Amino acid sequence: MQLQSLNQTQLQALERELAEQYQSFQAQNLKLDLTRGKPSSEQLSLSDALDGILAGNYKAEDGTDCRNYAILDGIPEIKRLGAAIMGLPVEQVLAGGNASLTLMYQTVQHALTIGFNGPDSAWQNEGKIKFACPVPGYDRHFTICEFFGIEMIPVAMTDTGPDMAALTELVSNDPSIKGVWCVPKYSNPTGIIYSDDVVKAMAELPKVAGANFKIFWDNAYAVHDLVSTPNPLANIFDYASQAGTDDAVLQFCSTSKVTHAGAGVAFLGASQANLASFIKGLSVSTIGPDKVNQLRHARFLPDMDALQAHMQKHAAILKPRFDMVLKYLNEDLANTGMGEWESPEGGYFIAFDTLPGLAKAVVKLAADAGVKLTPAGATFPYGKDPEDRNIRIAPSVPGLDELEKAMQIFVLSVKLASVRQALAA
Ligand code: PMP
Repeated sequence: MQLQSLNQTQLQALERELAEQYQSFQAQNLKLDLTRGKPSSEQLSLSDALDGILAGNYKAEDGTDCRNYAILDGIPEIKRLGAAIMGLPVEQVLAGGNASLTLMYQTVQHALTIGFNGPDSAWQNEGKIKFACPVPGYDRHFTICEFFGIEMIPVAMTDTGPDMAALTELVSNDPSIKGVWCVPKYSNPTGIIYSDDVVKAMAELPKVAGANFKIFWDNAYAVHDLVSTPNPLANIFDYASQAGTDDAVLQFCSTSKVTHAGAGVAFLGASQANLASFIKGLSVSTIGPDKVNQLRHARFLPDMDALQAHMQKHAAILKPRFDMVLKYLNEDLANTGMGEWESPEGGYFIAFDTLPGLAKAVVKLAADAGVKLTPAGATFPYGKDPEDRNIRIAPSVPGLDELEKAMQIFVLSVKLASVRQALAA
């Protein structure tokens, strides 16, 4: 059934039928939540062996007593893991505390106030600065910009990454744009992977940008595949080396959605010059990271084989949830003209685009029937989706039964909002 092919009488009949179904869900007083992308308890339990794994042996491989202060850039064995995840030599890796978001915040702050290339390079010297923000994107990236007063300029996402022609034009015409946010693999929220061409063009972007431009390469979902033969993401540092732009790339990842989300290890990958500059600043704020936790992680995940085997256990839990969401979207909304979505092969999200002007209405309808969704607009700078279309679905936390109910309500809300809009037109 194509919405656009229905006449007024058919629309009215459909609206009555959908409203009746909707009321029966409302009567069930459900409380379901598809908001934040967090691991479920079942996933968190996969890493409970971390607890007690050190069995009294606190020595890192280089003899460091991890219980004590020192080693700002992390112990060698955990840096090796971070290096393997990010595809970098260990000399280009810092292992930090529990959150890559903190490293992103700190690197933005460092670039703004200290300067990666000495005080003259600090962005604040140039007055008002801006970031390019591929949209839809990750709300917490946008919050960092908003907090520091950095103006955000949206750039459209495509199914192969940001629109690089538009981004290149934007950046080359405005030297006050100092950064771009990227989630290159299983992008938050659309789930797409940047193509080789996009990664290459991104690595070349700093050549046409203003001074001290930085690419914030948030590879949060680097190893979060749901399929056995995932599409690879090109290594941006390979292209950056060719383009001579290594100093413009800052890569981030963490074990947040590998082990325990609040108690993992975060990594920064950068040129040695950038790392040295960042560590100098970091040394003012800490005497060293939590190396005991780093050591626990290194013992639990000694190499990439161990990590991949562990991630397969996550996939076994997550894949049925993604399948459930996609089943309802495909069976109930494909070829109806009521929305669009991608079918991600990893990550934590599925993003749904309603017809223009309906995202808020769908989120409200779902909420009134007991399904909490991320607020419409959250995936855009300043919380403003100019077309009011994008809704981020995070299926990891609810059990499958709950998720099925939630998706029944979601597709019903989409249909009801779409039909009511068509009736009002
Ligand atoms: N980046 C992205 C794209 C994310 O989706 C998330 C978690 N939602 C994070 C970073 C947060 O990572 P961390 O826990 O390492 O701070």
